[in-house]
Amino acid sequence: MERTLYLYDGKQEEMKKSYDVIVVGAGAAGMMAAITAADKNFSVLVIEQKKQEGSKILVTGKGRCNITNDTDSAGVMKNVMSNRTFLYSALFTFPPSEIIRYFNNIGVATVTERGRRVFPKSGKAADVRDALVKQMRKSKVNVLKRNKVTSAIKGNDGFYYVNVLNDDNMTDCFRCVNLILATGGMTYRSTGSDGSGYELAKKLGHTVTELKGALTGLLTKEKWVAETMGLTLRNVSLTVKKDGKALYKEQGELLFTHFGISGPVVLTASRYLLDTDYRNTVAVIDLKPALEYQTLYKRITSDMEKNASKKYANSLDALLPKSLIPVIIKLSGIDPDKVCNQISREEKTSLVKLLKNLTLTVTSGMDIDDAVVTKGGISVKEINPSTMESKISPRLFFAGEIIDCDALTGGYNLTIAFSTGYLAGKSVYL
Ligand SMILES: Cc1cc2nc3c(=O)[nH]c(=O)nc-3n(C[C@H](O)[C@H](O)[C@H](O)COP(=O)(O)OP(=O)(O)OC[C@H]3O[C@@H](n4cnc5c(N)ncnc54)[C@H](O)[C@@H]3O)c2cc1C
Repeated sequence: MERTLYLYDGKQEEMKKSYDVIVVGAGAAGMMAAITAADKNFSVLVIEQKKQEGSKILVTGKGRCNITNDTDSAGVMKNVMSNRTFLYSALFTFPPSEIIRYFNNIGVATVTERGRRVFPKSGKAADVRDALVKQMRKSKVNVLKRNKVTSAIKGNDGFYYVNVLNDDNMTDCFRCVNLILATGGMTYRSTGSDGSGYELAKKLGHTVTELKGALTGLLTKEKWVAETMGLTLRNVSLTVKKDGKALYKEQGELLFTHFGISGPVVLTASRYLLDTDYRNTVAVIDLKPALEYQTLYKRITSDMEKNASKKYANSLDALLPKSLIPVIIKLSGIDPDKVCNQISREEKTSLVKLLKNLTLTVTSGMDIDDAVVTKGGISVKEINPSTMESKISPRLFFAGEIIDCDALTGGYNLTIAFSTGYLAGKSVYL
């Protein structure tokens, strides 16, 4: 077998040029595929364009990495928004229970939180990434970092030839029997998922469906949101309506940002708006979902009786977070200087209505780069769901977000990456 000297992580190393398996992309899917293939005694090379593996893992779950969801495969599928049945085999072969067991076995103790979301006990996404990197080393996976795969072609001899360009603008070529494309989607491009994998797949004969950023914050017309920037409301109810019709309603965590609203409940809502335009779209926030109108009215009345001689502007401390009070005061239209015992029944009623229906005009979602996940990708019609092998080019496999599958928040997207990565790695053959 041909060998060359190669500068690898600052050291000159002898590097094979021919492998049983080459994996493009050292993300969640690529690393899982590589480990699984190497554990079958195949020689494996992972090629990664960034200087470190798993850059995207580090930003997941706000740096805590929501690894998976402690549900069964059917439970994951319910949260998959595109091509859920395609994932049946992958999710049954490597379901969340196996993902949890796998990480526990490689030294990542896990904890299950609200919504059955599974996180590393340490609270550090880096521990998930580091455990996979360590496991690759243990399984004797070769990793070539700082090298971008610029093209991959199938030779007449049946091998795939993979061309790379490194940080120093040097090119090289590697050969393999099985090629796994695990280059991710198009979001958070600084983590390396720059969409170049789609071009590699197209050149190998595959179709890429329309790409959109799914799970984003929502931009709003109202500028007051910026005044509350950074405020997280843990348990509000959000209804998104288009042309007066509710498209989505859920209770959960919402974050005010400088541009509009975000947080888990908003990200999920955005997925339901992806295939619509944003005309006549509003987000209605119920700030007090646990209190019926009458109960909230009584509560406000009682608060105002307690504050009878105080100004209205100083009477809402017990009801609302500090940064939201000036906004609500303004939107309620009640004179802030009015003393509480002079506030009328009508005024209290309209305040109740406002708190139960804080309405924002949604103008759009955000740019694909700011999205959590990519909707669209390699057409599932061209991939064998039982193996992740291409139906067009034998021994070409796909894993992770590059595939036209996306899911809601809750650990489901990493589950897709791990499950499809595992299945692709398990399915390579000589
Ligand atoms: C902010 C944020 C938070 C998230 N939080 C969660 C969460 O908590 N739970 C969850 O389930 N999901 C979460 N997701 C989604 C999840 O991170 C992704 O769906 C998942 O990481 C996709 O894994 P992947 O391996 O397919 O792709 P990626 O992780 O994107 O990996 C692809 C790799 O391929 C490399 N690459 C690309 N092209 C080339 C090339 N031409 N040559 C060489 N290398 C290349 C890239 O550098 C990259 O390292 C989050 C996403 C974001 C953006």
